[in-house]
Amino acid sequence: PAPPFLYGPDRRNSRGLDLTIRSNLDRLAEEQKTFDAKAAYAAGPIVNGKTSKGEETDTFSPADLDFKVARLSQASEADIETAFSTAHAYFDEWDHAGGAARASILRKMGDLLEDEMERLIALMTRETGKSLEDGVAEVREAVDFLRYYASQAEEKFASPVRLPGPAGETNHIELKGRGIFVCISPWNFPLAIFTGQLAAALAAGNTVLAKPAEQSPLIAYEAVKLFQKAGLPTEALHLLPGDGKVGAALVKDKRVRGVAFTGSTEVARIINRTLAEKDGPITPLIAETGGLNGMFVDTSALREQVVDDAILSAFGSAGQRCSALRAIFLPEDTADIVIEALKGAMDTLALGDPADPSKDIGPVIDADAKKTLEEHIERMGKEAKIVHQTPLSRELKDKGYYLPPTLVELPSLDLLPEEKFGPILHVVRYKRSDLVGQAKALADKGYGLTLGVHSRLQRFFDVIRETVPAGNVYVNRNMTGAVVGVQPFGGEGLSGTGPKAGGPNYLPRFASERVVTINI
Ligand code: GLU
Repeated sequence: PAPPFLYGPDRRNSRGLDLTIRSNLDRLAEEQKTFDAKAAYAAGPIVNGKTSKGEETDTFSPADLDFKVARLSQASEADIETAFSTAHAYFDEWDHAGGAARASILRKMGDLLEDEMERLIALMTRETGKSLEDGVAEVREAVDFLRYYASQAEEKFASPVRLPGPAGETNHIELKGRGIFVCISPWNFPLAIFTGQLAAALAAGNTVLAKPAEQSPLIAYEAVKLFQKAGLPTEALHLLPGDGKVGAALVKDKRVRGVAFTGSTEVARIINRTLAEKDGPITPLIAETGGLNGMFVDTSALREQVVDDAILSAFGSAGQRCSALRAIFLPEDTADIVIEALKGAMDTLALGDPADPSKDIGPVIDADAKKTLEEHIERMGKEAKIVHQTPLSRELKDKGYYLPPTLVELPSLDLLPEEKFGPILHVVRYKRSDLVGQAKALADKGYGLTLGVHSRLQRFFDVIRETVPAGNVYVNRNMTGAVVGVQPFGGEGLSGTGPKAGGPNYLPRFASERVVTINI
């Protein structure tokens, strides 16, 4: 018999917004106008409910370099100290409030995000260049995280659970908060991952110091204001935006009892080292990092489906997902046909203003990202072969950080030692006799995030799955857009520590376990 559903098939995810309905698009366009008319906004620290001003910088839209999005105040040392002392003093009260009380605040926050969906999407198209479709998915995922962790808080943090023991003795196990959690989130999911980390840490009874990505402070600022509107006590959550220096100051403080981080493998290592070297308690790190994600195709695969799924997985969101497809492995017998079809599909991709519903792909996040990716493409032009690029107009090139989706054929996987975080898809042709060799070469890179397989043959799937480590394996479909509670998401090895966000084992890692034994 099929295994039972975890939490029942009736658990519902957020409904989102149907972009095929004209009135929904009209509402989005209206909100965009309102947002654009008001820019620039102010964003900065929110400590114990109060906003403060510090060293200021301006942020501009990656989609339009003349469009000023926000004036950002960095968190100061004084902000950081007030946040730590307030969060520390408040921890016991928040922890004792119990899972059910915390869950009701998270649910309220989910409702507020749904109510304000159009405004938040308008903000993200400008601040991070998210397409409308990605913006909808972003708000949905944030809402899903809130509701999912709320259910888990109610279930797992309700009351102690009885354990067996000898006569005359009772044993109970319970989960409780750890203390102060530092949450450091990325710009590529500036609302969903930001909210997901916070929701998990708060649901488990921790107080939180949040450091959003430098590139996306405004959406984080708006989210924290909504948390307060939802009834979250101001002492429980503090927003400390800024550059890496702010993150470093947070991580090294002795009052920290846990860190949740999503970002690069390199920064995860630095955080890990800092936590290991400082005095004070041993502090856990929950890290979600990058991937060098492969898709293996055999001759039994449906070619149109391979092309659709590869295009979406590699170029959707301008390739700026850690789940995105980086290398597609094609059998030499059919590689030419698939490559031709990929080229054709790439020509139909529309690049441009992310707020325009007719556009598929927006810009990459900033000048540094663009430069790194362009350098990689240039190198590939010399050492490998650029097979195709989606046409990009001069006008768009000057307007923002647009980068054309690019298809590269690699003579060997050795030329791709690490993740390239953008719209570049690498093709590797394999001989049937060398399939396992190629799969091992990918495995040897040390990542383990997503893996795609396109085949009608069980044996092919088995060989790939047994050889390439991956946290999320997708068979005969695209490899991005994991859904909370449906595809809990996260990797292993260089891709992160686990546990999976949006899965049943996530919340307990933000908690400590206590067992009480009573001899009656
Ligand atoms: N969960 C996202 C997905 O499945 C990726 C998250 C990330 O890029 O950090 O596409």
